[in-house]
Amino acid sequence: MMDRFSFEVTARDGLARRGAIRTPRGEIRTPAFMPVGTAATVKAMTPESVRATGADILLGNTYHLMLRPGAERVARLGGLHRFMNWERPILTDSGGFQVMSLSGLRKLSEEGVRFKSHIDGSEHHLTPERSMEIQRLLGSDIVMCFDECTEFPAPKADAAKSMALSMRWAARSREAFGDRPGHALFGIQQGSVFRDLREESSSALKDVGFDGYAIGGLAVGEGQAAMLDVLDYAPGMLPADHPRYLMGVGKPDDIVGAVMRGVDMFDCVLPSRSGRTGQALTRRGAVNIKNARHADDIRPLDEDCGCPACQSYSRAYLHHVFKAGEIISSMLLTWHNLHYYQSLMQGLREAIEAGALAAFVAEFEATRAEGDIEPL
Ligand SMILES: [Zn+2]
Repeated sequence: MMDRFSFEVTARDGLARRGAIRTPRGEIRTPAFMPVGTAATVKAMTPESVRATGADILLGNTYHLMLRPGAERVARLGGLHRFMNWERPILTDSGGFQVMSLSGLRKLSEEGVRFKSHIDGSEHHLTPERSMEIQRLLGSDIVMCFDECTEFPAPKADAAKSMALSMRWAARSREAFGDRPGHALFGIQQGSVFRDLREESSSALKDVGFDGYAIGGLAVGEGQAAMLDVLDYAPGMLPADHPRYLMGVGKPDDIVGAVMRGVDMFDCVLPSRSGRTGQALTRRGAVNIKNARHADDIRPLDEDCGCPACQSYSRAYLHHVFKAGEIISSMLLTWHNLHYYQSLMQGLREAIEAGALAAFVAEFEATRAEGDIEPL
């Protein structure tokens, strides 16, 4: 078993990279999509079924796990991998994003963030040092620096101030993380939609030195065009010999656009959350299973999909169990959506290897443009 964390690019097509992240807990094929296991579970899925979709790595949320069941408790119970029965790699975020989006009564200072839990109102103090400690207690394989997610839109002066604070916190995170063979610490580039701030942030991170580099502060309401504008230059500012991770992105076409621009890793709640609200994400775009047009439709969601929902169930059944509020509705649609995302990543990886990414993307776009199959 390898005891080091490493990254290797094995093929390129344009700016897109096919590669492998190797960790003691297994290899992560890149470009990679990480399903989100917020509270030590990918909702409506067993870990075995998540793995069956093709996932090599999961994401866990520091904010949720520190509040419930608590990082010290998870450590006493043998760490997050054993606790949730997922022995492959886990990446944890730093808690910073959810503190800002979910908790009440936040107070930001140079030291960190004081906040009240959205669950029981209890008070907590999250700092770069405490975030590193929590992620160590969880046993995370890929640890993220504690940062402040800059609001969008932000005036440039505010974005600059926020980015500078995140860079000071990145240096403190690196110091607190220490030397942990087999575990990786990723820095997070900030700077909103301002190219010079992104450049300044990248330089600060490279001066500190990290095992991988994330692009943060996108998919926060700026829209796809503005995001892709930033991705035209942001990945190229980060070291080519380390993995690049676009945090919180995204829709299938966002991912394809970002892979073409040199991004290696993604996470998003969209496939699992949509699966619980009756939305299937398919090669032909989004399908709303709630729609009455499916009530008598004996065809599968996608006849070319190999997931259990498409292999064994009709649109009519998926429509019925959603309308009836049955738990299997969330299970089947989440499975399909995660399967679709993983098969998209597999297709991207094979296309990059074959030097055929342009043709793959052209077909991806053409199939989506056709839209869903005609009603019966
Ligand atoms: Zn399917």
